[in-house]
Amino acid sequence: MLPKIKPYKTLIYLDYAATTPVDPRVVKFMLPYFFKIYGNPSALYKQGREADSALRLARGSIGKVLNCKPEEIIFTAGGTESVNLAILGVARNYPLQPLPLLKGKRERGQIPPLTKGRLGGVKPHIITSKIEHSAVLRSCEALEKQGCNVTYIDVDAQGFVKIDELKRAVRPETILISIMYANNEIGTVEPIAQIGKTLQSLNRSRIKDKRLKILFHTDACQAAGALNLDVQKLGVDLLTLNGSKIYGPKQTGLLYVRSKTKLEPLIYGGGQERGLRSGTENVPGMVGLAKALELVSKNRHKENSRLIGLRNYLWAKLKLKLPEIILNGPELNLKHSNELRRLPNNFNFQIPGVEGEALMFYLDSYNIAVGTGSACSSGHEGASHVLRAIGLKPKAADSSIRLTLGKHITKKDLSYVVKVMSALTGELKGIGAF
Ligand SMILES: *Cc1c(COP(=O)(O)O)cnc(C)c1O
Repeated sequence: MLPKIKPYKTLIYLDYAATTPVDPRVVKFMLPYFFKIYGNPSALYKQGREADSALRLARGSIGKVLNCKPEEIIFTAGGTESVNLAILGVARNYPLQPLPLLKGKRERGQIPPLTKGRLGGVKPHIITSKIEHSAVLRSCEALEKQGCNVTYIDVDAQGFVKIDELKRAVRPETILISIMYANNEIGTVEPIAQIGKTLQSLNRSRIKDKRLKILFHTDACQAAGALNLDVQKLGVDLLTLNGSKIYGPKQTGLLYVRSKTKLEPLIYGGGQERGLRSGTENVPGMVGLAKALELVSKNRHKENSRLIGLRNYLWAKLKLKLPEIILNGPELNLKHSNELRRLPNNFNFQIPGVEGEALMFYLDSYNIAVGTGSACSSGHEGASHVLRAIGLKPKAADSSIRLTLGKHITKKDLSYVVKVMSALTGELKGIGAF
């Protein structure tokens, strides 16, 4: 029997980590680029030049947030594509033989076959973590099939990458390290700036020894709305972010590519985006992405404090009604030299004896939308790879649920959520659903 509580009048959306609604100011900003300034940015007449200058402005505005040059921004169709471009692009650019043996220059556009044994070559090596988004994990797996070695390093019980382990994993043939800025399931903020510094000093000695520089990529899709994105401070060569997590349009994204970083494109054609992403540019999308990033960056500190306050409220109320709940991931409000160590909007916990997925469906009937892990993996992979990597048993992982807050959530919404959740939990335990 479902508890007799009236469904909420409007949807309480608590899955902002899966995607966000688009900010109406972003839509308004995009509209002229559908109807008025619809020219092809490559065209030389005025209509085309106007579209081109809109792209230039968008790149400039993003460059301010990322503290980089506008031309270092490559627009893509989302986070997944940017991640693929970063990882496959670096690997495919890498000649298989070690640098000192390299003779002559490889012709542009020629992809070296990534098979072992070429010139008795050494397989290139990539390091990533066990809790990355599937875009990163699947790209790395694809490269393993094509003859790369990949090390998937462990994280601790809160999801933090261990820098010592990362350093130990580095080999002479390591070409790339890809570590996410913040985790989409448990909100762990990885020490990217610290890894960047470590890598910079490592690279200095490698370059002296005529070995290849190790490139550093971070997947910042979850971090973009909440954390500092200064690529100089972070010390990254490549950074991925997308529109759909920051109140921008879906299928919009970018890859920051530090000057002089060589990548092989994924998509060949007219040579747009400095040859790295051919195809007529999505002008409204890119303009919208830039606007969305500008808006979230301006309001970042204020919104972070508001979300932390709401999350503290939710945790305190839930703990009161359901003392058995267990938090997954870093402590709430954990700080490290003034930097957040957990995303302000992320809340992931277990309710022992209750199946997360069942609870999710019941909450849906009260007009409450929550996640049970990552939107991209729930449904087909069994227990979350992230929760397993932080040491949860399959059953504990399956009794976990993820609530991610965002700008439309109020205290009143959360008080209703607590009411429904505690009533439902009693019911679900009563019928021994799990
Ligand atoms: C959403 C997300 C992606 C994928 O982005 P899309 O724009 O959906 O392709 C990649 N990495 C992380 C951490 C994400 O949260």
